[in-house]
Formats: sequence, C-alpha cells, structure tokens
Amino acid sequence: MAVFVQKFGGTSVGDPQRIARCAARVQQRVRDGHSVVVVVSAMGHTTDELIGLAGRVTDSPSRRELDMLMATGEQVSVALVAMALERLGVPAASLTGGQAGITTDGAFGRARVMGVDRSRLDAELAAGRVPVVCGFQGISRDGEITTLGRGGSDTTAVALAAALRVAEQGGCCEIFTDVDGVYTADPRLVPSASKLSRISYEEMLELALLGAQVMHPRAVLFGERYGVPIHVRHSQRPDEGTLICRETPEMEEVMVVGAALKPDLGRVSLRRIPNNPGVQGMLFEAVAKAGIMVDDIMQTEFGEIASISFTVDHGDLADVKIAASQVLDRVGTGELAIEIGLAKISVVGTGMKSHVGVASRMFTALGAAGIPIHNITTSEIKISCILGKEHAQRALGIAHEAFGLDRPGASVGTSVGASAAGAQPALAGAVIGGTAASATTIA
Ligand code: ASP
Ligand code: MG
Repeated sequence: MAVFVQKFGGTSVGDPQRIARCAARVQQRVRDGHSVVVVVSAMGHTTDELIGLAGRVTDSPSRRELDMLMATGEQVSVALVAMALERLGVPAASLTGGQAGITTDGAFGRARVMGVDRSRLDAELAAGRVPVVCGFQGISRDGEITTLGRGGSDTTAVALAAALRVAEQGGCCEIFTDVDGVYTADPRLVPSASKLSRISYEEMLELALLGAQVMHPRAVLFGERYGVPIHVRHSQRPDEGTLICRETPEMEEVMVVGAALKPDLGRVSLRRIPNNPGVQGMLFEAVAKAGIMVDDIMQTEFGEIASISFTVDHGDLADVKIAASQVLDRVGTGELAIEIGLAKISVVGTGMKSHVGVASRMFTALGAAGIPIHNITTSEIKISCILGKEHAQRALGIAHEAFGLDRPGASVGTSVGASAAGAQPALAGAVIGGTAASATTIA
C-alpha cells in the first residue's frame, strides 16, 4: 500500500461535473488499496474574483483581511470534493490548512511553510477517511490564517507529501492540472513543443522561474529538498504526464530540455557611476526595500567608472525608478536610463554542465534570424537572452528548434515511474524543521 498526495488545480474543480471526475480519480487510488491525501485549489477563477470583490470595497485592503478572504475559496472546494467522495462511498474529511497541520510564518499573502504536523492527517487516514486539504493556506504561530502566494496550492501538496514521506511509501505527489505535463516550451507559443516524460527538479525550477507556468517554483524547491517525486498529469485524461525527479545519468546526455519565455521586462541602468566600494550594496538595498524582485544584474567597468543594469517586471518600473533615482542622487554623478518592451528567452538543461557549444548554437541561430540580443546571462544549466518583445515569440521557436526540441524523442524518453522514488532525506520527526523548510523559500 502506497501513500499518494493528489492535488487538483482550480480548473480541475471548476464545476460540479469536474469535481465528480476528480473524486472518481481519488476513488480509483483508494480502491487499489492506497492511502490518499487530497489537496485542492479554489474553483475556477474564485481567487481572482475574491480579490476583485475586495477592490470594490476598498482600494487598500489590509493583507490580513485579504488572506482571510482568499482562504475562503479553498474552503468551498474542499467541502465539495469531500461531499463528492462521500457520495461515491469514499469516507472523507475536509480540512483547512491549519487543521491539516500546516504552520507558516506571519507574512500575509506570501507566507512560508515552517512545518507540517502530520498527526491529524495520520488520524484521518487511520480512521479510513481521505483528508481533503485546502491548498494555498496555513496558520501562523499566532493563530492567523495566512496564504502562500498565488499558485501556492502546489506547495501545500508537495509539503504534505514530504511530511508523509510518500517516496519511502512507494507513492508520489500527483499534480492534476489542465495541461497533460511539462512541455519543451509552452505549446501555445511553440506548436511543435513536445511533452517531456521526465525532467529534473533543477531544470523544472529554472524553467518555472524563467516563465514556465506549469508549477509553482517553491513547490519544486520543496520537492528537490525532500526528494518528493512530483508527477504532473492532466486531470481529465489518463495520459502518463511528466515526472519531476532527481537527475539521472541519462538526463546529462541531453543538452537542453526546454525553452521558456518571460514577457514584459524592463531594464534599469545606472550609467557612468563611480565604482566605489558599497555602491552596488546601496543600489540593491534600496531596490529590495521597495519590495522589488530583481531579475538579472549586469555590470560593466571602465577604470573607476561602472555601469550597472538590471531587469525587472514591467509592472515594477515605476517603483524602481523612484528607488534608483534616489540612489543616483546620493552617488552624485551618472545617469539613469529605463528601457521598456523587453523580454527574455532562455534554454535550460543539466546536460549543459558537460557539453560545449551550447551558447554558440543559440547565438548563431538567433543571429541567422536577424534577431538582436541586448543582454546575455548564464548559469550552469541555463542561457538567457534579453531581446525586444517584438522578437520574443519567434526567438523562442528558433531556440527550441536549434536544440532539436521540435523533434519528438530528442528529449529523454525513459518512461515515467522508472525512477520515481529518489532517496529521501530524513525529516525531523513528523515535522519539517523550520529552517530547512524556510530555506526552500524564494519569495
Ligand atoms: N487559489 C490560489 C490561486 O489562485 C492558489 C492556487 O490555485 O494554487 O492563486
Ligand atoms: Mg497552479
């Protein structure tokens, strides 16, 4: 008997018929003799609608009240899923995040999971009931209801799977969604994209951070940290989906597994500033204080003078402009430049660590297509190019083709399930230790 966590996204529980189909999926696993814990998101666009509703009451709802409001979305769906299960004769109990033992810090709207006390889940399972848990929420040490950030139900599912040690129990964390797996690129942008049967945590995390929307990055980090096999599957189709797991030697054979596009970036440059010790610290402290996430940072130096540029989401430009001008005033000389209408395309693959010529292949392909590159950043397993937004989708297709991703089979073809259970690091008792869990946070 294995233990599975099955998570259903908002579209998958969008109406009563779909809820019934999700319940049937759960019933199948239970019938096969497995223990199942279910995690669900709010139905359809409920979370957006709740935020919209708050906006009609006030321009500036407090974060605490917003969390109280948003958390109701998942409460609706867990109760309905539990009812649907009971109708099928599967005993079930809906639980809030707090009831399920998920404790978080007190950061409303972007809370981090600090620990999971699995005692209530164990008690429900022992009583033969399927716990149906609200995704996206937890409870702080002060007893406040918190939410984990948009898309956070994936994180709830993987955190519960880690606490329940599903890998050791021969199970995994199944993420049921409205796509049938992880693709070499977003198929809406690149029609020749193909589904990957497997991808490593590291690659999935890069792709998620670089714009792929299929999984919440924090959930992938949790999965990697605790060795939770994550199986992304379509909620209404029986296909095999994509397994996110530890890297295996065959994975290293493939240079690039996927390409991603991050639209709507802006670039902020402080040009010709004196390169005094501490100037970088001053700039990015001001940016961090303004609560702005920085994408990539570039610096060039000419003697004592430097230019520092960084990219941010387009929506953050107004705030970043204020922070950067204040820094420039303190520095005394130099100029501030803001460029808009940029995008970033990236290719990702752990095989880059052991292959040469990856960067040249990408730049040559973009060059042959006449696409100018404004900036390049790399890590061990990714290469990113900043370019004009107008070229972005075409550039994505070109990069995808340059690495043979449009030819099915170019990606690792090993079947899902072969190496589902990676070695799982021990968790402290039934609780994910506060520091370990919060170290996986990238908020
Ligand atoms: N309902 C939340 C959201 O829409 C959490 C989730 O769906 O994962 O962001
Ligand atoms: Mg989601």
